[in-house]
Amino acid sequence: MGFAASSSNKPSKQERCSLCGRVFNSAEDLNAHKQLDHGEQSHEPAGVS
Ligand SMILES: [Zn+2]
Repeated sequence: MGFAASSSNKPSKQERCSLCGRVFNSAEDLNAHKQLDHGEQSHEPAGVS
């Protein structure tokens, strides 16, 4: 019975964007998406000028 799929043994912890509903495999992907697609800044001060 060695017929299992090779890459589906991970506990799928998915992160969903609360703004558009897209689902990502990691919080990092979600954060990157938010910044790129929604222009949302992370908890980092955006350059004090
Ligand atoms: Zn989004």
